Amino acid sequence: MQNHSSKLLDNAVEQFASLPGIGRKTALKFVLHLLKKSPEEVTAFIQSLDDLKKNIKECRKCHNMADSELCEICTDPQRDPHTICVVENLKDILSIEATGQYHGLYHVLGGIISPIDGIGPSDLHIDSLLQRIENEDIQEIIFALSATIEGDTTGYFIYKRLKNHENLTISTIAKGISVGNDLEYTDELTLGRSILNRIAFGE
Ligand SMILES: [Zn+2]
Repeated sequence: MQNHSSKLLDNAVEQFASLPGIGRKTALKFVLHLLKKSPEEVTAFIQSLDDLKKNIKECRKCHNMADSELCEICTDPQRDPHTICVVENLKDILSIEATGQYHGLYHVLGGIISPIDGIGPSDLHIDSLLQRIENEDIQEIIFALSATIEGDTTGYFIYKRLKNHENLTISTIAKGISVGNDLEYTDELTLGRSILNRIAFGE
């Protein structure tokens, strides 16, 4: 779609407009803003995306984004290595980190069990979670999953495989709080409180 007198401008606007939640108006604003910057600044902008795409890795332990084999959370000696918070995606880690109330490790499932979308347990990082519980000295698992049927199903599926582990506490952040897809919209105070006041996961 050509709206402007310049094909070059149109191409750049098209790229920004392909991002989620970015309409053509906002895309144009971004492009005009970048045009006002120096060539060096624009190069640095492009370079950072190029570096990101070429070099970003997935942490081999928790599946968080990482600059090297292991992410910064997994390698941080200040974090509690005995607690794992199980989340659906990377955005959830950012939301929980923003509360400043959680100091353990994470495990990113990469989604939740959703038969309607054709997502089964084997499509998620569940096996690697079970392996971690076997191999690391984990004392508590906290589910921070969507308060939906899919979230419950996923939590229960994992719970069934873990409940016979002695000395393993299985908990969930308080029900009723919007999590999963909505985790990013939950205010930090509420989310932080629900992590602190987590409850035992039951059947
Ligand atoms: Zn990690």
